Amino acid sequence: MDAKRRKVDKLLSDKWNIERKIENIQSECKHENKVLKQIKENGFELRWVCDDCTLPLGWPSEAERDEFLK
Ligand SMILES: [Zn+2]
Repeated sequence: MDAKRRKVDKLLSDKWNIERKIENIQSECKHENKVLKQIKENGFELRWVCDDCTLPLGWPSEAERDEFLK
């Protein structure tokens, strides 16, 4: 393994650890601060997102979307 590959492996392992930490926080969060946000997922989608842990919680209704885009 060359140095570049070792660096990438280390970063991928860090990324995995960070993602597990975020998942932990999100699973313990009660998602009490819902906000409408544009998130990147197959282009940009408007979603209800927890403002505390950034977890996408669901789709806004047509009326809520109109209100946001106004
Ligand atoms: Zn949350």
